[in-house]
Amino acid sequence: MFRDVTGRYRLEQQLRFNERKLRSLAESNILGMAVADLDGRIYDINDWFVHLLGYSKDELLSESFNWSQLVPQSNQEALGRVMKTILSTGALLPSEGEYLRKDGSRVPVLAAGTLLDRERHLMLGVILDMSEQKAAERRKQEFLSMVSHELRTPLTSILGLIELALMQIDLRPRSLPPEAEVLLGQIEKLLKRADRQVEIETRLVEELLEVTRLELHTFELSLHPENLVTIVQETVANQQQAARTRHIELVLPPDELVPVIADAGRVGQVLTNYLANALKYAPVDQPVSVRLEVAASSARVSVRDQGMGLTAEQQQRVWERFYQVAAPGHQGPDGGLGLGLAIAKAIVEQHQGQVGVESAPGQGSTFWFTLPLATGPIQA
Ligand code: ADP
Repeated sequence: MFRDVTGRYRLEQQLRFNERKLRSLAESNILGMAVADLDGRIYDINDWFVHLLGYSKDELLSESFNWSQLVPQSNQEALGRVMKTILSTGALLPSEGEYLRKDGSRVPVLAAGTLLDRERHLMLGVILDMSEQKAAERRKQEFLSMVSHELRTPLTSILGLIELALMQIDLRPRSLPPEAEVLLGQIEKLLKRADRQVEIETRLVEELLEVTRLELHTFELSLHPENLVTIVQETVANQQQAARTRHIELVLPPDELVPVIADAGRVGQVLTNYLANALKYAPVDQPVSVRLEVAASSARVSVRDQGMGLTAEQQQRVWERFYQVAAPGHQGPDGGLGLGLAIAKAIVEQHQGQVGVESAPGQGSTFWFTLPLATGPIQA
C-alpha cells in the first residue's frame, strides 16, 4: 500500500512537470505555438502568436476563421503540400515562409509542426519570427550591392585609361630610337596584361552585383520573341573568337528557327558561362561540343566537355552560390567566385526553363538548360 502511493505520487509529479515544461514554452515570449486541424480550424494559440498576427484571440479561435487566411495567395499551393506532408510523415521539418497579418502586412517566419492526433487530424505548429534576420540579410545584400557598384565605376575608368595608353603607343612616331621602341614594347605588354586582369576583376564585380540583384529581387528580364539558333550561334562565335586555339563543335537541329520568348542577352550569358567553364576546366587539347535540340514543347542547349567530371554531390552543389569544387584540376586560371552557375540557374528558371548537369568523375560533364518553345508567330 505504501509503495503504491509513492509510485502514484511520482507519476503525478512527472506529469505536472511535463505540463509545466510545455506551458512555460507556450507562455514564453520566444515563439509562437498553435494547435489546429488540417482543415484549418485553430483550437489553441499562444499570446505571442496572437500578438504577431494582429488579430484578437477570439477572432483566431472562432469557427469561421481558417488558417489559410494567414497564408499569402502565392503560398496557398505550398500550404496544401505542407498539410499532406504532415499527414503522411507525422512532421513538418522547419521551413521558411510568410504569414499575413490582419493589416495585410507580411511577416517572415520559420515554421515547424508535428501531428498531435492522427485520427482528429490535429497538429501542433511552432513558429519563430524571422523579421530581424531577414532585415539583417537585406542590409547585408544592400551593402554588397552598393560596394559592387562603387567598385565598378573606377574599374571602368581604369579600363578606359589602359586602352587610351595602348592607343597612344600605337600612334607613336615611327622615328623613335631603338631603345625607346624596346621600352614601349615592354610597356605595351604590361598594359595588355593589366587590361586582362582588370577585365577579370570587372567580371567578378559584375557577378557580385548580379547575385545581389537576385537576392534583392531586382533582377529583371527583358523578354522578346527570339530565335534560339541565332543566340546559340552568336554566343559560340564570340567564345571561339576569344579562345581561337580551342575546338568548339556546334550541332544544330534541322530547324532554322527555334522560337523562344527570351531575354537574348541573358540566355547568351548562360551559354557563355557553360562554355567558359568547359573551356576553363577541360584539357586544352580536347574539343567542347555545343548542341541545340528541339523536343515537343521545349528546346535544350547543352555543352559537353572532356574534363575532370563531377561526383553526384558536386553536381548538386555547383548550382549553389559561392560553391567551387576544391579538388585539383577544378580551379580555373583566373579564380572565379563560384557564382556563374547560380546566376545561370536563376536566369533559366526566370524563363520557366530548367538547368542540369550529367557527369561522372573522369568522364567529362554535360551542362544543359531548357527553355519553353514559343507557340505564337515569331520573326527570325
Ligand atoms: P566559377 O567558375 O566562377 O568558379 P561557377 O558557378 O561557374 O563558378 O562554377 C562553380 C564550380 O563548378 C567551379 O568552381 C568548378 O569547380 C565547377 N565546374 C563548373 N563547370 C565545370 C566543368 N565544366 N567541369 C568541371 N567542373 C566545373
